[in-house]
Amino acid sequence: MEKLYIYNTLTRTKQEFKAINAPFVGLYVCGPTVYSDVHLGNCRTFMSFDMIYRYLTHIGYKVRYVRNVTDAGHLESDADVGEDKISKKAKLSQLEPMEIVQKYTVGFRDVMSLFNALPPSIEPTATGHIIEQQEIAKQIIKNGLAYESNGTVYFDVEKFAKDNNYTVLTNRKLEELLENTRELDGQDDKRGRLDFALWIKAKPEHLMKWPSPWGVGFPGWHIECSAMSTKYLGEQFDIHGGGMDLQATHHTNEIAQNIAYCGKSPANYWMHTNMLTVNGQKMSKSLGNSFLPMELFTGQHPLLEKGYSPMAVRFFMMQTHYRSTLDFSNDALNAAEKAYTRLMESYKTLQNLKPSNTSSENINELEKKCYEAMNDDFNTPVLIAHLFDAIRIVNSTNDKKATLTQTDIDQLKNIYQHFVFDVMGLRKEEETGKANQALAGVMELVIELRNKAKTNKDYVTSDAIRDKLTEVNIQIKDTKEGTNWSI
Ligand code: AMP
Ligand code: ZN
Repeated sequence: MEKLYIYNTLTRTKQEFKAINAPFVGLYVCGPTVYSDVHLGNCRTFMSFDMIYRYLTHIGYKVRYVRNVTDAGHLESDADVGEDKISKKAKLSQLEPMEIVQKYTVGFRDVMSLFNALPPSIEPTATGHIIEQQEIAKQIIKNGLAYESNGTVYFDVEKFAKDNNYTVLTNRKLEELLENTRELDGQDDKRGRLDFALWIKAKPEHLMKWPSPWGVGFPGWHIECSAMSTKYLGEQFDIHGGGMDLQATHHTNEIAQNIAYCGKSPANYWMHTNMLTVNGQKMSKSLGNSFLPMELFTGQHPLLEKGYSPMAVRFFMMQTHYRSTLDFSNDALNAAEKAYTRLMESYKTLQNLKPSNTSSENINELEKKCYEAMNDDFNTPVLIAHLFDAIRIVNSTNDKKATLTQTDIDQLKNIYQHFVFDVMGLRKEEETGKANQALAGVMELVIELRNKAKTNKDYVTSDAIRDKLTEVNIQIKDTKEGTNWSI
């Protein structure tokens, strides 16, 4: 097995990866909260872990990849106050919370499959593991590290921190955290200002609630991941991942819960992916600078000059290391689109190369470098640089400026198969790419015709166009900025 080095947030160093029970690997990644469409930033995190899952599998590990779906307990504040994100959306849309969950879970899976991400081995939901979450909370109370107060169960952070390193993931000082948290005002149910909820008492109007030893309520956000990772991967497993924004609170609390529950820190390696930014600012729904994958594919967003295909976007993501921020820009996407096309063109050329008796290139060395890049904490940008060397070799051989033996050609085909398709998860998309482009062009024309009809007060035609589009599942929406369409 290859020697793989992984940057571990726990130790803040790159460490050789040693699986607890090789060739098996347990990988847990915090999944989406399914209260709205995932934006491109969310997709970056999940695509990074998809690449990590693919590479671990490629080098021979048998990975159980668990990625949860948060369908309850994630409050608006990302802490213990505010409404449940899913309940709020359900009320606004006058739908059942489970209709919201279903809609956005399906949407999330569709988008990830457009990006060619593999489905995880298990996708457990918070609502499907209420009992398990209660059991953990009960045990933590028994172990003296949580307490019930007025129907809510809190984790006692300061008590835990006496014997344990609560801030192991961030290396922050507890005093500093205390200084930055508001003081309790005497009205609070919690004892310490860093305490967080394991179980929350439900107000009468709260939609998703369950009976518990502490009355009717719902689980806190962090406990679901402790419950589901323990259930499917055991009390100690190999890798836990998520976006960097989860490190300071969600993951810090998850580790504390597990230790308080069973005395063990859950994962040996904690991996955090960096953020997708727009003009240097984290892409986020609440900041209003996010856009949806569909908007990206069709080019229908004020920030976009045109549409980009899913594989051009995936390539764009892979060009940056998962621990670096990636700033969105049309220029970068255009460059990625060109580079992706060159890579795919060279793959076509490779299929028709004529072998020679001698070779002017060292393909063994090239393959070695590709593995070295990936073994150095999944360094896809360096891998891509080596693949550009492969493109150069393929094109020079085609132009008769270099020579390759049949063995070299076969090995190059393997390099493309392994690194481009299996590990980076790219796929050929000429057909869908061309079809998407054609559709975008046709839609531009149709919308123009409809607008002309409307200007001429020919509403029969404009309505007929809209109805026909609806019939073929294309929705159009008139906004101040113009007419948008979506599938
Ligand atoms: P959420 O649905 O908010 O729980 O987020 C799902 C995942 O997306 C988490 O792992 C977040 O860390 C990640 N995430 C959120 N915003 C971004 C962003 N701008 N770039 C990369 N990952 C993000
Ligand atoms: Zn989580």
